[in-house]
Amino acid sequence: MGSAQETHRRKAPLLSMVIPCYNEEPVISQTAAVLEDQLTALMNTGDISSSSFVLFVDDGSSDRTWGIIEELHAKNPTLYRGLKFSHNRGHQNAVYAGLIAALQRDCDAAISMDADLQDDPDAIGRMVDSYRAGNEIVFGVRNNRENDTAFKHFTAEAFYKLMTWMGTDTIPDHADFRLMSRTAIAALSRYSESNLFLRGIVPSLGFTTDKVHYKRGVRVAGESKYPLSKMISFAMEGITSFSVKPLHLVTVAGFISMLGSIAMLIYIIVSVAMGRAVSGWGSMMFSLWFLGGLILISLGIIGEYIGRIYLEAKNRPRYIIEKEL
Ligand code: UDP
Ligand code: MG
Repeated sequence: MGSAQETHRRKAPLLSMVIPCYNEEPVISQTAAVLEDQLTALMNTGDISSSSFVLFVDDGSSDRTWGIIEELHAKNPTLYRGLKFSHNRGHQNAVYAGLIAALQRDCDAAISMDADLQDDPDAIGRMVDSYRAGNEIVFGVRNNRENDTAFKHFTAEAFYKLMTWMGTDTIPDHADFRLMSRTAIAALSRYSESNLFLRGIVPSLGFTTDKVHYKRGVRVAGESKYPLSKMISFAMEGITSFSVKPLHLVTVAGFISMLGSIAMLIYIIVSVAMGRAVSGWGSMMFSLWFLGGLILISLGIIGEYIGRIYLEAKNRPRYIIEKEL
């Protein structure tokens, strides 16, 4: 950073690290220590404000996660803060609640990061640097997938392809490790849907953005909270909250089936003319295809309406905060 560049840089931000935690008792103390080191170093170089802090969002854990957060807060009340949900509301809601809390606590920027130290804490400094250079959103992009199983690799790839096909901007290999400025979080807060899919919404906000590459490690302790069933429902949420394309597909399938019935009709007429038809077969096959097509089209059209109502009706609270530190 030369001094000429320095004059154009934004002031050192009041930064909040937003850490969603669901049953992270085995790892959270270590995460806190690592973050304390990182933030202290950035405070010492004058890159972030000395009142920057770590905000743990306890997503309704059933283990001692909240107890540990309380202990950390008692030890250092300015550095460690916490939010506790009354119930498990999922990773996306925990991240969102933390970002909004950061906004309410006058932060200039917030970085969301997993609690299990899979996201490289060394990337924090580079994200802050990019923010100070003028970017509103900085996406952490992993440049390795060797820690993933072949299955996870394949499904992740297919998922990003599908999202792109459906017209949703996602950043490949970006999970929820990212910096957002105050401006970007304020824009995000205007999205009222209750099925949050941040990886789709955040890229669609616009703004000047940047990417920071990092190497994703393995979970330091504890177990993954994303078993296959949760991964599938996460993917479904991503698809249905951004697109009614699957419903269009039903309509298209209906039309194809109708066209098939016309082809069938021609075939039946030819068979009858040539005297090869078994009696009753033709009318049965035709009505089967024709009615099938008609039913699918009707379902598709009803689905379009339900899809629209669904897109509008998402108005429930996303989470309930039970305690704040
Ligand atoms: N998490 C959460 N609520 C949940 C599930 C997960 O807040 O219902 C948090 C979890 O504590 C971690 C992050 O989301 O900080 C990512 O979860 P995990 O590491 O289990 O997912 P994976 O890395 O295996 O995809
Ligand atoms: Mg993890």
